[in-house]
Amino acid sequence: MSLFDRLVLASLPLVPKAVIWTVAKRYVAGAELSDALDRIRAVRAEGFGSILDVLGEGVADLAAAEGAVAEYERAMDALPDVDAGTTVSVKPTHLGAMLDADACERLLGRLCERAAEQGRRVRFEMEDAPTIDVTLDVFRRVRERHDNVGCVLQARLFRTAADVTALLRDVDGLDVRLVKGIYLEPPDIAWTEDADISRSYVELAQQLVEGGAFVGFATHDDAVADRCVALAERAGLVTGPADARRYEFQLLMGVRKREAERLRDAGHAVRIYVPYGRDWHAYTQRRLQANPEIARHVIRAFFRRG
Ligand SMILES: Cc1cc2nc3c(=O)[nH]c(=O)nc-3n(C[C@H](O)[C@H](O)[C@H](O)COP(=O)(O)OP(=O)(O)OC[C@H]3O[C@@H](n4cnc5c(N)ncnc54)[C@H](O)[C@@H]3O)c2cc1C
Repeated sequence: MSLFDRLVLASLPLVPKAVIWTVAKRYVAGAELSDALDRIRAVRAEGFGSILDVLGEGVADLAAAEGAVAEYERAMDALPDVDAGTTVSVKPTHLGAMLDADACERLLGRLCERAAEQGRRVRFEMEDAPTIDVTLDVFRRVRERHDNVGCVLQARLFRTAADVTALLRDVDGLDVRLVKGIYLEPPDIAWTEDADISRSYVELAQQLVEGGAFVGFATHDDAVADRCVALAERAGLVTGPADARRYEFQLLMGVRKREAERLRDAGHAVRIYVPYGRDWHAYTQRRLQANPEIARHVIRAFFRRG
């Protein structure tokens, strides 16, 4: 990353919320559940599945984590009228993973139970490196009781191949969302060059496909996506109705829509991640940190106003 980009990213916290919102609109359905439901309807009309996320992370206390679960329950109760197949995705630290792992396990279990009543799946996301052990531990414990929960693994981390091996060994019917990893981790634990991260992604995709897991290929990188399609074809998975296969593609709302359309038009199942909630500001800051090019537009918009 250039020095200029670093400066741009460092100044983001100074940009007023109203300016950030002009960009956030692209990545976030809105502050309210009704905004997310509208977006899910629109996504569905275009032939995509959806993933609902209530924005939030790093709660300060367990009351806030309970509040997050209550909001997910409210959202799930509204979903059958909109799209019965929508899955939900939740961050470990939104459920208090770093405050109390047992409480987090109980809350994730509660979400899985409500989701199971509706035939829905839950995805336990992955955050930065210090949270990984507790996340996988909570996931494994909840997965023993609920088979409708999946996890997320990050290709940039050196440890992930070993995590895949252990999870394939221990979890029957493993369901993994594979991502490059949004958190910029230090070079002693993670690859930092794009080429290495992409290579790792494809290797892990192969390990998961050959190991019999369900894989959500969550990437906007068309070269990587094409390699995943080739893997799925080689494994004989590209057959029958797209939504009954052992893989799907997952993309973020507002990011590379043409890539989502390309995959959909080629006959693959594609889900779009639809986040909503009052906590949109922190989420957008993270998206911008991941993409200095857009951050530059925000900073320019800010100074044009001033
Ligand atoms: C559905 C979904 C869920 C995710 N969940 C997690 C998670 O739980 N934990 C985690 O660590 N990461 C998660 N991520 C983020 C992921 O780790 C990557 O940071 C992100 O997807 C970018 O990597 P990429 O594979 O798309 O490849 P990249 O090489 O980063 O991107 C490919 C192209 O897509 C475009 N692009 C990618 N991201 C953006 C963006 N944010 N804004 C604008 N353009 C962009 C760029 O133009 C780039 O050229 C998730 C991603 C998706 C799609």
